[in-house]
Formats: sequence, C-alpha cells, structure tokens
Amino acid sequence: MPPSGDESEDDAPKLVRRSTLAPSIKLCPRCLAPLSASSKLGGWLIPQDYYCTKCGYAGMVYVESADGSPPEGKK
Ligand SMILES: [Zn+2]
Repeated sequence: MPPSGDESEDDAPKLVRRSTLAPSIKLCPRCLAPLSASSKLGGWLIPQDYYCTKCGYAGMVYVESADGSPPEGKK
C-alpha cells in the first residue's frame, strides 16, 4: 500500500523542531532574579558563570526554571 500523510512532514525545516523545547531560565539562588551570563564564551571554552544585577551574586550556581516562575513549593 502507498504511504499517505508522512511525506508532507519532510517539507518542514528540521531546525524549527528545536524551538518546541521550553527555554530554561537561570535564576539567582539568592533573590530569584534572572541571571546574566558574565561571558559569552562561557559553557564553550570555559565554565559558564553568571551574575545577578539585583543583589550582586556571582557564581556558577543557579536556580533553573523551565517556565519562568520561581520554583516555590516544588517539594
Ligand atoms: Zn540576586
């Protein structure tokens, strides 16, 4: 039997599929404000570290949130 419905899926660019994953947001472990990456090379040549513009925290430890809301009451 001839395949039907599967061929049209090959027309879509494969790179678009990656955007379906929810982007993880890195939050400050002290005040849960969004962290900024201190270096664009971080995570590639050197370990990525982050800094918080709100409380001045700097380091590689962060709280990760998948949906942008603070992970309160997650236990
Ligand atoms: Zn902070």
